[in-house]
Amino acid sequence: MEDYYSVLGVARDASQEEIQDAYREKAKEYHPDISDHDDAEERFKRVKKAYETLSDGSNRRQYDRLGHRNYEQADKHGATGDGGPGGAGMGGFGGDFSGVGGFGGMEDVFDAFFGGGMGRGGRGRGVSRGRDLRTSTTIDLEDAYRGTETRVTYIRTTSCPECGGSGAASEDAVSTCPECSGSGQQRRIRNTPQGRVMTQRTCTRCRGEGRIVEESCEECGGEGRVDSRESVEVDIPPGVGDGQVVRIRGKGQAGERGGPSGDLHVEIRVRNRTDLARDGDDLLYEHEITFPRAVFGDTVEVPHFDGALNVEVPPGTRSGDTLRLRGKGMPRLRGHGSGDLHVKVQVVTPDPGELDGDALEALQQFSESTDHDFQPDQGLLDRFREKVLR
Ligand SMILES: [Zn+2]
Ligand SMILES: [Zn+2]
Repeated sequence: MEDYYSVLGVARDASQEEIQDAYREKAKEYHPDISDHDDAEERFKRVKKAYETLSDGSNRRQYDRLGHRNYEQADKHGATGDGGPGGAGMGGFGGDFSGVGGFGGMEDVFDAFFGGGMGRGGRGRGVSRGRDLRTSTTIDLEDAYRGTETRVTYIRTTSCPECGGSGAASEDAVSTCPECSGSGQQRRIRNTPQGRVMTQRTCTRCRGEGRIVEESCEECGGEGRVDSRESVEVDIPPGVGDGQVVRIRGKGQAGERGGPSGDLHVEIRVRNRTDLARDGDDLLYEHEITFPRAVFGDTVEVPHFDGALNVEVPPGTRSGDTLRLRGKGMPRLRGHGSGDLHVKVQVVTPDPGELDGDALEALQQFSESTDHDFQPDQGLLDRFREKVLR
């Protein structure tokens, strides 16, 4: 398995900024909604996991200490909670940590392995980072062009305001777990033919909490967390693409036992317009003109966010020719300048039945004078005569 640094393509000593930049870059590349890669979803998940781990100081230290394999394994066992390894949580790892002889060095082995987050009595209870949440918002292309601020509303689990997250009806309603003395962990040392083995598991009495709630908070039923409707302002940069994600730090699910909140990922949906189409940073517009105007040249009006543009169609323009207006496309999200606006000129062929007599006659004359093999169409002439006689 590729380690998280390689997943993001950064050095092991990369700064948080570099990690964030690398993540944005990769997330854009592999976002399942916009990526061409076959395995985009899988890769996107890996990129996200790598980012969640490396962007969080304590997770990253844990990762560096444990190494890729051990970290992933611990993570898989749910030991690191939602991406945030915590002291007691790590105890869940393997359940039976055995085979290390000699009791004296045990503490050190654990400390080396679990980052010293456990077995210190009292502080055994682990915090874990809250889960990331996902929501989406839809904006107009014009908003994507200018950048905008919009408000999204979503349901988020937060610390219960009544009990402050303790889950207890009052401070007196909590006592230290007598089974584990508050560490949340139960250890046992056994003598086996292989030597002394220490077993460690999450305390069954308090389920790793280290404390017992005698009377639960009525507001949250002892959970310590409640669902609430949240509203947050999202700053959307100019040039944002459909399906791109804006991340708002700390607006995800509340962490457990005072752990940091997760992030909110807001997926930006950009509404299509019927006139201006978007292709990456470029805008596309199609304009129909008559044949004579294509011959003699014309000025056409093209809609644009900064006010309609008058675009010169040069004489002799063929149907399908595209005029490029540099810098009139979408702003580039990161980087400078803007894309282009492409105006495709379509020359319309008139329906002879809809032309008046003069126009038909002129067209006939034009045809005769430019094409020596011209055979007048009898039906067309008949219709022409009908119109003239009428
Ligand atoms: Zn409560
Ligand atoms: Zn306990």
